[in-house]
Amino acid sequence: MHSPKDIAASQPTPMMAQYLTLKAEAQDCLLFYRMGDFFELFFDDAKAAAATLDIALTSRGEHGGAPIPMCGVPVHSADSYLARLIKAGHRVAIAEQTETPAEAKARGGKALVARAIVRYVTAGTLTEETLLDTRRDNMLVALAQTGGDGAAEIGLAAADISTGRFETLTLRAADLPAELARLRPSEIVVPDGLTLDLADSHPFDRTAFSSNRAETALKRLFGVATLDGFGQFGRAELAAMGGLVGYLDHAGKGTLPFLAPPVRKASGAHVAIDAATRESLEIIATMNGARVGSLLGAVDRTVTGAGARMLAQDLSAPLMDQGRIEARLGLVQLFHDDPLLRDQLRAALRSLPDIGRALGRVAVGRGSPRDLGQLRDGLNEARLLRERLGRLPDQPPLLRQLLPALDGHGALVDSLTRALVPNPPTETTNGGYIADGYDPALDELRRMAGDGRRAIAALEAKYREQTGIASLKIRHNGVLGYHVEVPARAADPLMQPESGFTHRQTLAGVVRFNSIDLHEQAGRVAQAGAHALVAEAAHLEDLIESTLTRKSEIALAADALSRLDVAAALAERAAEGGWQRPHFLPQDGEGPCLEIIGGRHPVVEDALQREGQAFVANDCRLGASDRLWLVTGPNMGGKSTFLRQNALIVILAQAGAYVPAQSATLTLVDRLFSRVGASDNLARGRSTFMVEMVETAAILAQATEHSFVILDEVGRGTSTYDGLALAWAVVEAVHEVNRCRCLFATHYHELTRLAETLSALSLHHVRAREWKGDLVLLHELAQGPADRSYGLAVARLAGLPPAVLKRAKDVLTRLEAGKARTGGIAAGLDDLPLFAAVAAQEEEKVDPLRAALEAIDADALSPREALEQLYRLKQLAVAGGED
Ligand code: ATP
Repeated sequence: MHSPKDIAASQPTPMMAQYLTLKAEAQDCLLFYRMGDFFELFFDDAKAAAATLDIALTSRGEHGGAPIPMCGVPVHSADSYLARLIKAGHRVAIAEQTETPAEAKARGGKALVARAIVRYVTAGTLTEETLLDTRRDNMLVALAQTGGDGAAEIGLAAADISTGRFETLTLRAADLPAELARLRPSEIVVPDGLTLDLADSHPFDRTAFSSNRAETALKRLFGVATLDGFGQFGRAELAAMGGLVGYLDHAGKGTLPFLAPPVRKASGAHVAIDAATRESLEIIATMNGARVGSLLGAVDRTVTGAGARMLAQDLSAPLMDQGRIEARLGLVQLFHDDPLLRDQLRAALRSLPDIGRALGRVAVGRGSPRDLGQLRDGLNEARLLRERLGRLPDQPPLLRQLLPALDGHGALVDSLTRALVPNPPTETTNGGYIADGYDPALDELRRMAGDGRRAIAALEAKYREQTGIASLKIRHNGVLGYHVEVPARAADPLMQPESGFTHRQTLAGVVRFNSIDLHEQAGRVAQAGAHALVAEAAHLEDLIESTLTRKSEIALAADALSRLDVAAALAERAAEGGWQRPHFLPQDGEGPCLEIIGGRHPVVEDALQREGQAFVANDCRLGASDRLWLVTGPNMGGKSTFLRQNALIVILAQAGAYVPAQSATLTLVDRLFSRVGASDNLARGRSTFMVEMVETAAILAQATEHSFVILDEVGRGTSTYDGLALAWAVVEAVHEVNRCRCLFATHYHELTRLAETLSALSLHHVRAREWKGDLVLLHELAQGPADRSYGLAVARLAGLPPAVLKRAKDVLTRLEAGKARTGGIAAGLDDLPLFAAVAAQEEEKVDPLRAALEAIDADALSPREALEQLYRLKQLAVAGGED
C-alpha cells in the first residue's frame, strides 16, 4: 500500500526525498540511513530488518495518512547487526552523512545534511574480522556465459577479497554445480538477464561483464600491458572477471580491494566431485552443515585460521597431478618423520597473526594500526622460520620452493618495527600507536603535552596547599576539559572572586572550577595532542602506502605459511592415528588400481574411540581383473562405513595427505562418485527415488575407467522387484560400460548371482554371528556372499516388541517356503541374456538418417536426383524426430 513510489508521488518531506533517492540507488539492498548515532531503515527494509534482527518496528511521521514503518540500530554496534542481516541473505547499502550539521547550516538556512552511499556490505565483500569466519574462505563468484545454447561456455571468476585469492576457469554449464560445490561461495553475481538456474545468485549491471572492458580494467588493476603473463583467458572468463571487478568497484564505491594475480584453473586439474557426492561424503561439512563430524573436522589439526582455510580448499579439490601430490606429501613426510621440528614449527605458527586477512583490510582502506602490527609480527616470524627451515639438510622440493616467499620483507618489517608501538590499537582516534623515537617532531609534541600534563599535576599539589583542601583534584572530561573539583562543603572559599578560581559547574556532591594557569596548561596539552594526532595519522598513511607496494609478496608469504601449517597439521594427524603415506602407481601401468590395506574411516573411528570402542580395519583391493566389489551383509554391519572410508582415503591421498590405513596404493582417480539409496536420505526430506535415479544416471554417463564409484543400496527406494531389476542393470552397466573401480553395497542377495557372469566382479560381505540368540556384528569384511540377512536379528537389537518379531518370523518362514517352490525372486533371471542392456543401447544408436546419408554416392547423382535425395533425407529427419 505504501511503496516508496506512492510516497514519492505525494510530495515527500526533504528528508524523505533524500532517502528515496538513495533507496533507488541501493535497489534491492537494505538501506542503512545514517541519522546521528543510528542507522535507520524505512518501509519494507524496516520490516525485513526488524523481523531478522528481532528488534522493535516503530514508525516515523506519516504519509498519505499512513505511518512509515521504521527501525534502527546504533552505529557503534552496527557490525553485529550487519553480520546477522548478511547471514540471513540480505545485502546492505550504507548511507553516511557526508557533512556535519554545521557544514549543512553554513550552506544555507535549513539545508538537510548531505548523505551518500559510501559502501555496500554483502556476504561476498566482507573484510571485517568481526564479520568473517577465521577458518573459512569467503568467496565471491561472478559468472558469465558466451556462445549459444549448444556451444555455451561459462566463465567463472572467484575471489576471496579478505585475502586476495583470485581464480578463474572456463567450464560447461553441466559442470557448474560441482565447481560451485567446491568453492562454496558466499555470494554469486551474474549479468543482468542471464538465467543460470542458480538459487542464490543476484544480477548485476551486464555492461560490467564485457570481455573487452574487463581486459582494460584488469590491465589497469595489475599494472600490466598484457594479461598473457597470467595465462590465456577465454572470453567467458574475461567477462566473468570483468563482472567481478566491476561488482567489487560498485560495492566499495570506487575502492578496490586487494586481488592477487588471477590463477587460471584448468578443467581437469582436480578430481571431479559433484555436489551430491560432496554432500554424501561429508567432506567439508556434514549433511547438517556442521564442521564437526565431517572429514575436514576429523583431519584438521591446523593452528592458524589461514591454514584451516587452505586445508578446506585442499580437501575440496584433490589434485590430478601426481607431481604436485608427491610434492605435498614430501613436505608432510618431513614434518611427520621429525616430531621435534614439527612441534617447533607449530608452536611458532600458533602465535602467528592472520597476515592474509590483515593485508585484505589494509588494501580496502579499513586497515588499522593493529593490522600493520600483525603484518610486522607475521612477516618477522616468517623470516625467522625461513632461517630455521633453511638450515635443514635435506629439503623436500616444495620446501625449497616455499622458503624464498618467507623472506625479503626485512625492510618493511624494520620500518614497521621502528614506527609502531609493540601492541598497536585498532582505533586511531586516541593516537599512541606510533612509537617514540620514530619522528623527532612527534616526540617533541608529545613532550610538550607531557610537560603540560606534568605541570597540571604540579598545579594540583599547589592548589591543595594553597586552599588547604586535601581532597581537591584536577580532573578531565569531554565537556569541561581540565577542571578543578572540590567537595561541595569545601567549595565556598573558591567561590570568592579574589580566589583566582572561576565557577564552572555545581553537581550533587562536588563543585567544579577553572583557573587561568590551568586553562593555559590545558591549552598546551590539547594543542600539542591535536598536532600529535595529525602527525601520527600522516605516518600511518605512509606506512600503509609502503606496505601496499609489497602486497603481492605479502600474499605469497601468507600462502607459504599456510602451506607449512597444513603440512605440519597433516603430519600431526598422521602421527596421532598411525596414518601412512599413500603410494601412487603410474596411470599407464597395469590399469587402474586401488589397494588399501587396513583402511579406516577417520570420522567413525574418532566417534568410536570417544566411546572406548575399537574400529575394525578392512582391506579393499580393486584392480584390473577385480574392479567391482559387491558388498552384502546385515544392516548396521558396516557396509556404508567401508564404502565411504575408501572414498575418503582417495580424497586424502590426492589432496596430498597421509591416510588412515596400513598402506594405500592407487592410480589417480579422475572422478569420484558416491550415491546412497533413497531411503537412507529420507530423514532429510529431500532425496526421493527420483533423485537417486537422476544421480545414478549421471554416474553412468560420466564415470570413466579411471573413476572410483561407491553405490550404497541403489534401488532400495522402490518396490523390491523394480529395485532389484534396476540395481542389477546398474551393476552390469558399471562393469561393462564404465569399467570404473566400484564398491556396491546391497541388501539384494540375488545380485550375488552376477558373480557368475561378470568376470571382474567379486563378492564380499560384512561378517556377523549369532551367539546365544543374539546378533554380534563383527564389522569385518570377508570374501564371498553373506550367508543370510539377519534383518530380524537387527530388528531385535533395535528393540522391536517380541510379539511383532515372532509374527515376522512366521511370515518369513512362509515367504522362504514359497521362494523355494518357485525358485526365488530372481528365479527368472537365469535365462536373461548377459548384457542385454548394453546390446539394446547399441541397437538404438542405428540412425536411419545417417544410414541413408551414408548410402548416397554423391558423385553419381544428377542435380535432380540430388534434390530428390534431399527431400527424402528431410522426410527421414522429420520421421526420426517424431519417434
Ligand atoms: P545399513 O545396511 O543399515 O545401512 P550398514 O551395513 O551400512 O548398515 P554402517 O552404517 O556402515 O552399516 O555401520 C553401522 C555402525 O556400525 C556404524 O555407525 C559404526 O558405529 C559401526 N561400524 C561400522 N563399521 C565399523 C568398523 N569397521 N569397526 C567398528 N565399528 C564399525
